Amino acid sequence: MQEKGTISIHTENIFPIIKKFLYSDTEIFLRELVSNAIDATQKIKRLASLGQYNGDLGDLRVEVAFDEEKKTITISDNGLGMTANEIKKYINQIAFSGATEFMEKFKEAKDANEIIGRFGLGFYSAFMVADRVEIETLSYQEGAEPAHWTCDGSTEFEISEGSLAERGTEITLHINSESEEFLSKNRLQEILDKYCRFLPVPIKFGTKTESVEDGVDEEGKSKYISVELDNIINDTNPIWTKAPAELKDEDYLAFYKELYPFSEDPLFWIHLNVDYPFNLTGVLYFPKLKKDFEIQRNKIKLFSRQVFITDEVKDIVPEFLMLLHGIIDSPDIPLNVSRSFLQADSNVKKINSYITKKVADKLAELFKSDRKAYEDKWTDIGLFVKYGMVSEDKFYDKAKDFVLLTNTAKENFTLTEYKDKVEGVQTDKDGQLVYIYTNDPSKQDSFIQSANRKGYDVLLMDSPIDTHFVSHLEQKLEKTSLKRVDADVADKLIKKDDAPETVLTADQIEKVKAIFDKSINRPAYKVEVESLHPEELPVTVTMDEFMRRMKDMAAMGGGMGFYGSMPDNYKVVVNGNHKLVSRILQDESEELQSQLAKQAFDLALLSQGLLTGADLTEFVNRSVNLI
Ligand code: ADP
Repeated sequence: MQEKGTISIHTENIFPIIKKFLYSDTEIFLRELVSNAIDATQKIKRLASLGQYNGDLGDLRVEVAFDEEKKTITISDNGLGMTANEIKKYINQIAFSGATEFMEKFKEAKDANEIIGRFGLGFYSAFMVADRVEIETLSYQEGAEPAHWTCDGSTEFEISEGSLAERGTEITLHINSESEEFLSKNRLQEILDKYCRFLPVPIKFGTKTESVEDGVDEEGKSKYISVELDNIINDTNPIWTKAPAELKDEDYLAFYKELYPFSEDPLFWIHLNVDYPFNLTGVLYFPKLKKDFEIQRNKIKLFSRQVFITDEVKDIVPEFLMLLHGIIDSPDIPLNVSRSFLQADSNVKKINSYITKKVADKLAELFKSDRKAYEDKWTDIGLFVKYGMVSEDKFYDKAKDFVLLTNTAKENFTLTEYKDKVEGVQTDKDGQLVYIYTNDPSKQDSFIQSANRKGYDVLLMDSPIDTHFVSHLEQKLEKTSLKRVDADVADKLIKKDDAPETVLTADQIEKVKAIFDKSINRPAYKVEVESLHPEELPVTVTMDEFMRRMKDMAAMGGGMGFYGSMPDNYKVVVNGNHKLVSRILQDESEELQSQLAKQAFDLALLSQGLLTGADLTEFVNRSVNLI
């Protein structure tokens, strides 16, 4: 019996198109064929449990073997098998109605995954790497005959009697000349590790060679016999499929090491496990974050029923949770759709908020159960919590109770605790609370000391996320503004009614301003004479909070934008009440006046690390002269 027929796709030849467009992703043929094989074994198991199959299940398994000489790769399973009719129904009819539709959809698709999934082309991905594909199969159904199918990648196929004696399916790919890289143990092992490492049915992998003695069937045709199949290559029961109650810390840590062999131990983890209204399992780890968190992204792996799908979970997991490591497994995430569709998908949205809530709950629990331990981990957690608060409102609402503010004395406060602490001293004359922060305590040390002298507390905001976090806090907190410690002289950081009287007359102020303007003589530096406390520095260089923040934002955003293109503008505050200023006024020699003004100005720059190059050299020389 032999039958010839035509694959009904109502168009000439789709395979050259598939091959041509999908070349870069060819390795996924193995994922597709092994997944089909796994499905087949799981289907027979289900049929048995439903009483619809009463035969012996045997040890369900999948085998992947290759033969370098014959240039074949074989994927076999002892699953439910297919009858000839089922082959015609499932394999020969491709699920779309014509070339036009295919080409239309194809234009929107971003990669092979999408095309293959959208059209149910899993099996046909074999033709990306094979000139010819054969199926040998025997259905579990009583009285079923073995069937053999072969196709050379054109729309012509051939069905004939098959030779399998046992239930199951064996798919043989005759690898084409461009794809011979796949006839290598290392390459195949690599692909299996990537996609099949946690599949639920044991997979054996190895080489297949012809056996001379017993490798001949009744008709004298030689047969392939597996002689060297290595041990099972996959972990059929990875921890995320188990109940949390069965697992110990060691299990979670060991799994982490398995996924990320070179990483430090994680701080803690969350076991995800829901089945309604969507199905999701997984384990997410909080890594020890380094300051450069950009490079730590994209470490979450997405699985669907234990098949690895992708490392790109950008549209499934909320942006800020991309810093986490681990895996999530959900059959409810549509895998083969475009990005915008994915973001709009209601399951994805629910999954998104579920994960966010779980993470927030875990952090809240850690904070509550052991505050000391939580504070110890804050350097790592903090970055992440702040990132979450800035990017996700729902997360902010939960995190506002466990986010910590750290001051320069390394003390930690919750938002409420901090408000209580500084309210008395740091409320300005209009009732506005002013929080003061530093992003670089060593550079801004003189400012910090001045602020501390006034009884102000200074917060440490020196992580990359803090620029955003500061603006965000300001929007969220009522009647509160944040100022960097060098945004103004300490006396002016918080506007109060107690400004000290000035000892200078209006004339003298004009004269001081003129002397400094002339000696500094730089357009970016604007001189102002103010009446500060006499113990404050004679000259302070500051940059306006608003201006500086806009520039920081522009710099972080990569592009420079409007504010980015503005030159730096500084305010030079001369302390009219300082002894040095009176002395400059009393001095007769213009030359000396100018030298002293320059010296005071340079000292201000020096204390902020702004004095460099030729200016620094000039300062040193002038200092020597003055001494
Ligand atoms: P999909 O898996 O998305 O349905 P495929 O093209 O990969 O699309 O497979 C088409 C169908 O062929 C499967 O749904 C299944 O019914 C059948 N099939 C493929 N491989 C096997 C196999 N190893 N054993 C039994 N049936 C299979």
